[in-house]
Amino acid sequence: SVRVRFAPSPTGALHIGGVRTALYNYLFAKKNNGTFILRIEDTDQNRFVKGAEEYIEKALEWAGVSPDEGVNAGGEFGPYRQSERKDIYKQYADQLLAEGKAYYAFDTAEELEEMRERLKEARVANPQYNAITRMQMVNSLTLSEEEVKQRIERGDAYVIRIKLPRNEDVRFKDLVRDWVVVNTATMDDKVLLKSDGMPTYHLANIVDDHLMHISHVIRGEEWLPSAPLHVLLYEYLGWEKPEFAHLPLLLKPDGNGKLSKRAADKLGFPIFPLNWTDPESGELSKGFKEQGYLSDAFINFLAFLGWNPGGEDEIFSLTELIDAFTIERINKAGARFDIDKAKWFNEQYLRARSDDELADVYSNLFDEPIERSKSLAIVAALKERVTFIQEMKVAGSFFFESPSVYDEKTTRKKWNDLAVKKLQGFSAELSNFDHVSKEDVRELFMSFLAKDDTPLGRVMPALRLALTGQAGGPDLMAIMSILGPKEVISRIDKAIE
Ligand code: GLU
Repeated sequence: SVRVRFAPSPTGALHIGGVRTALYNYLFAKKNNGTFILRIEDTDQNRFVKGAEEYIEKALEWAGVSPDEGVNAGGEFGPYRQSERKDIYKQYADQLLAEGKAYYAFDTAEELEEMRERLKEARVANPQYNAITRMQMVNSLTLSEEEVKQRIERGDAYVIRIKLPRNEDVRFKDLVRDWVVVNTATMDDKVLLKSDGMPTYHLANIVDDHLMHISHVIRGEEWLPSAPLHVLLYEYLGWEKPEFAHLPLLLKPDGNGKLSKRAADKLGFPIFPLNWTDPESGELSKGFKEQGYLSDAFINFLAFLGWNPGGEDEIFSLTELIDAFTIERINKAGARFDIDKAKWFNEQYLRARSDDELADVYSNLFDEPIERSKSLAIVAALKERVTFIQEMKVAGSFFFESPSVYDEKTTRKKWNDLAVKKLQGFSAELSNFDHVSKEDVRELFMSFLAKDDTPLGRVMPALRLALTGQAGGPDLMAIMSILGPKEVISRIDKAIE
């Protein structure tokens, strides 16, 4: 059965790249009646950031891709936090030691640094602790058994490293990138267990993927260089390896380099799903949610960053995404992040929302209650004209306050004796009504102008100016219906004064 995991390290807020990884895992799981697991990889205590884990859970929940199994969701393969699984990892490191597939290394930081310097001087492009260099280092391959025992007994610090074969090709088939071949000569005898007894990412990740029966590892391309090591670890431990799918990078809008928080800041768009306050600096980074993105629009946008279902359609609900999702349609090439596309998606989703739902959100933007019929009419008039719901507050402020300034250019061009005369006449006609529908008021206005064949264009801009102060805006008939005859008349009077 399909079992996939999202395995973030709680080292800060979840970047949208992480949300995309979670999303693809989620889609793949749901498409295949599988299970989506959240595992917290917190073995690196130095990089632990307070609040990050809660943030991850909340962000996934907002995005609508909550895990089936995990720290909060529970499950039979827990604990799902690696810091609570410490005891599990050591036995596998011991197994590898016993089988000669790993070794103790006692090198101090200075000794390691010296080696790197030496290799650099010898112009070795990619200095590694490997089959060649390890023979000059302080480890259980160069020390006598007796010495190793002594050192351990007297409490010398050591790590456990994997013993990679010399000059051997490691190959595996990635579901996105196809065959990947890496020679062990370019790889490092990575540390598996650190001197404090904690596993490294590599060991913990492989052990947990195995014990949690993970069938597919779907993760960012930045982990591709680690994959050959992981493949070897599976082999060494005698385990069947999962399938791998490495997702394309998210690139800056110009395609020039990775999308980083700094790049996003510079371009003025969010990179986190939710607001995040850095616990150290206190700096607030705004999230997509708080910027006004609807979560389904955000998810639709994110799904298309590195994948597409083929065909012209772009609007896909989460259910439709699940239906359409296949790993085969994930791109190899990096995905350019385009904030205008994100806005476009939000506009489409906003327009598809019911007036009822929009009116709820809209009225919540105000301290004082708004009459329901009024908020319904306002959101209907404005929803084609904004990107985010919050923008309706400003875009529709004239519904609550008569204008005090009038757009100058329109005044100069469109405010003239004829317009004034017509507005006065129309005012008089309107005064016979208490309420008017959009349709009523259109009928009234048109027939009034038709009396002497006054062209619409001679009066409309002036009327809009009198009512809103602006040159453009939503349907004028809707505006008049919402304001009501009394208010329309009073605004015309005020403008004429
Ligand atoms: N803890 C790693 C991360 O932070 C997990 C990588 C993986 O999925 O293997 O992304």
